[in-house]
Amino acid sequence: MTAYKDLSREELKQLKDSLEKKFAQIKAKGLKMDMSRGKPSAEQLNLSMGMLDVLDSSSTMFCENGIDCRNYGALDGIPEAKKLLADMMEVSPDNVIVFGNSSLNIMYDTVARSMTHGVMGSTPWCKLDKIKFLCPVPGYDRHFGITEHFGIEMILIPMSEDGPDMDMVEELASTDAAVKGIWCVPKYSNPQGITYSDETVRRFANLKPAAEDFRIYWDNAYGVHHLYEDRQDQLLEILEECKKAGNPDMVYKFSSTSKISFSGSGLAALAASKANLKDVSSTMKMQTIGHDKINQLRHVKFFKDLEGIHAHMRKHAEIIRPKFEAVLTTLENELGGLEIGSWIAPRGGYFISFDALEGCAKAIVAKAKEAGLVMTGAGATYPYGKDPHDSNIRIAPTYPTLEELKEATEIFVLSVKLISVDKLLGNI
Ligand code: PMP
Repeated sequence: MTAYKDLSREELKQLKDSLEKKFAQIKAKGLKMDMSRGKPSAEQLNLSMGMLDVLDSSSTMFCENGIDCRNYGALDGIPEAKKLLADMMEVSPDNVIVFGNSSLNIMYDTVARSMTHGVMGSTPWCKLDKIKFLCPVPGYDRHFGITEHFGIEMILIPMSEDGPDMDMVEELASTDAAVKGIWCVPKYSNPQGITYSDETVRRFANLKPAAEDFRIYWDNAYGVHHLYEDRQDQLLEILEECKKAGNPDMVYKFSSTSKISFSGSGLAALAASKANLKDVSSTMKMQTIGHDKINQLRHVKFFKDLEGIHAHMRKHAEIIRPKFEAVLTTLENELGGLEIGSWIAPRGGYFISFDALEGCAKAIVAKAKEAGLVMTGAGATYPYGKDPHDSNIRIAPTYPTLEELKEATEIFVLSVKLISVDKLLGNI
């Protein structure tokens, strides 16, 4: 493979002609495909249909401690659901509150509460002139959406294969009291599939933030989402590390079963120190008299224990591993050695992150759309939707069928090639 940058202008022009012919052929097929959001496929959702059979009108609806799950009560979750999610989150049930179906909702409420009521007695953020959040990039667009919604200034922190640039995180958190938080997806990150190294986690736990109400927003959305049996990333448990470092209150850990059971009807939980949970509860008890305990009971009866969750995740992996591999193989076969893009092969999670030549991402996504392929908008992986290098594109392989995915990836690589040639010819 000759790198595109080593081709002469004449060669590039010839290449462009042949790529355009190919593109026209694919476009003529009138395809319609969506690789934009990290949604599970119907086949994955079907894995959990048994959950609808574990309860019927003759079932006992009392949980372990005798509470009737149909009634009000158990604000922090039924004990068996707390245990299940605590095991999944590698913490004690005493450090867990089970909420509704969405961890994003908990994150939103956490920022909202900090704005209006402050964190554990500190000044509400709305009374301060400026609030800032650190945002490792590329990252999850909906995190950035929350902080943007509240007018919080977002500071870009570059990611490496070990996690966020910790020199920058330490410097900014320790010198600027307006820095109140950092968004983290520490395992199989969205979108790069990176797991933070032990050293990164320890440096997080040992931060000395200038703000007493600084919190790490540790969104462990993909904690058990391995693609392989024999190659699994390990992540140090942050609550324990923070405790050891004398910073027990510095972290909120979020998780959910959205990509385990049903995306729209799973269970979400927050794990944190007891002091934090007390603070959270003071607002939560004004918001609700209790979350959906029947769903909590269903989840416990269906999964039984952590091993049940792992066994279930192996079934998910069987379905999505071939999809990830199909995309990665096409990227390697079609783009390997051309030096017009780079990517990381993830061992888990929901995404593949692609970095195109600088200034090309928007044009590539637009080109793919011409041929009927919808991708996540370029820039979405950055705060304010603005990728300063216009380079990152998030690929979400789980939702389309394997057949669709193969075609979609063909369109994608063709779009990458065409736009890269244009860039090298100076046309964009
Ligand atoms: N966090 C991350 C990193 C995600 O990728 C997603 C889903 N795409 C969520 C949170 C959303 O989680 P939930 O469904 O629990 O709100």
